[in-house]
Amino acid sequence: MKMAKIDLKLLKNRAEKAIKKAKDLKELNEIFKKYLGKRGELTQVLKSLEKLPKAKKIKIGKEANQLKDFLRIKFDQKAQEIKEKIEKEVEEKEWIDITAPGKKPVLGHLHPLTQIRRKTEEIFQAMGFTVVEGPEIETDWYNFDALNVPAEHPARDLWDTFYIKNGSAMRTSSSSSPSLPSEARLLRTHTTPVDVRYMEKNNPPLRIITIGRCFRHEATDASHEVNFYQLDGLMVGKDISVANFKATIQEFFHRFFEKSIEIRMRPSYFPFTEPSFEVDITCLVCGGKGCSACQRTGWMEMLGAGMMHPNVFKNSGLNPKFWQGWAFGMGFDRLAMMKYKINDIRLFYSGDLRFLHQF
Ligand SMILES: [Zn+2]
Repeated sequence: MKMAKIDLKLLKNRAEKAIKKAKDLKELNEIFKKYLGKRGELTQVLKSLEKLPKAKKIKIGKEANQLKDFLRIKFDQKAQEIKEKIEKEVEEKEWIDITAPGKKPVLGHLHPLTQIRRKTEEIFQAMGFTVVEGPEIETDWYNFDALNVPAEHPARDLWDTFYIKNGSAMRTSSSSSPSLPSEARLLRTHTTPVDVRYMEKNNPPLRIITIGRCFRHEATDASHEVNFYQLDGLMVGKDISVANFKATIQEFFHRFFEKSIEIRMRPSYFPFTEPSFEVDITCLVCGGKGCSACQRTGWMEMLGAGMMHPNVFKNSGLNPKFWQGWAFGMGFDRLAMMKYKINDIRLFYSGDLRFLHQF
């Protein structure tokens, strides 16, 4: 019986140490099983009491039960301790300082070309123009034939065009295009086809502008991109003249650049206008005095324009005997470059945030 007594003391010491060392609830549970489980050490001791004489049974039984109660309390205390520790850790991890200043959300802004596009549209709309759009994939007819550029016309050599064959774009030198039917599809090389499409469906008087993407197969450099924007304008009526054009375009530049702008017109050639002219504006850098930017001329080349060719009216279903009007086409990227003093068109399409953040 002496052995049983020593066993209980040792058992108590071992169990207490183990409980103290337990790191988590799982480990604590294992220790509980080891001592107080169905086959636990203390449970075994209690079971073995049956074989002892009555006096011993009472004495050791009392001690064993006291130990059992003592260990249960120790287990409960340790379990509580572990739970509190976990709660504290979670609290620390998830703690939020509600008084800390908030993080400002990063807001984007419109691309410089979009900003300029809206400004341009606003100015023309204020002058009574309607903003219209047309497809970027055009037919040979709208892009060339309807605009008085027949298949064999040398003007087609001015542009290298992306023709579309079997659903994918392929590059064809325009000089090989005469064999293509007029419904052959291509990526439009200018926005002027929109004029024809609009005149087909609307009766004059007309005042429209269109700004859209165009495509030409060109080697890219600081002033050329495969993909670029063009601004096209059209005004048709009974007695619309070059004077109307001059007044309109001068007013546009005045409002666009927010300074007094003079324009001058030089004779030129385009298949879809007759007469045709190139339009220069006062040099934005020197104001007309002459500087290196304008080769000391005081003028900057800005756009092409002219009185709409009678054939284009005919192709659009309008009688050139009753109607006349002007049209112009302008590189829209160039307009934006001059507004923001940017010297490389490729910056617009590079997606470089260092560039874009400046606007
Ligand atoms: Zn100048």
